[in-house]
Amino acid sequence: MALKIIEECIACDACVEACPSGAIACADPIYIITPSLCTECVGYVADATPSCIPVCPVEAIVYDEAHQETPEALMEKYERNNS
Ligand code: SF4
Ligand code: SF4
Repeated sequence: MALKIIEECIACDACVEACPSGAIACADPIYIITPSLCTECVGYVADATPSCIPVCPVEAIVYDEAHQETPEALMEKYERNNS
């Protein structure tokens, strides 16, 4: 599933550079993740763990239960992102 940013976000910008898919954008008042781009880092990171979660100082990046996807669908999204 894609990830999402919740209201605890302090707009520190740390997650933007950590995201290899360009899914995170600056927005007001909190940053946003575009679900159609976020692959949970599948395809980008060897162990497929989200790069954005550990860099967030306030634990504002969480899994978005509304965007459930299979590993295969996440890999297809990765391939679309890079086609
Ligand atoms: S999980 Fe990966 S692809 Fe998704 S927003 Fe975080 S860093 Fe970007
Ligand atoms: S790292 Fe966390 S606090 Fe900083 S902009 Fe991203 S979601 Fe917001």
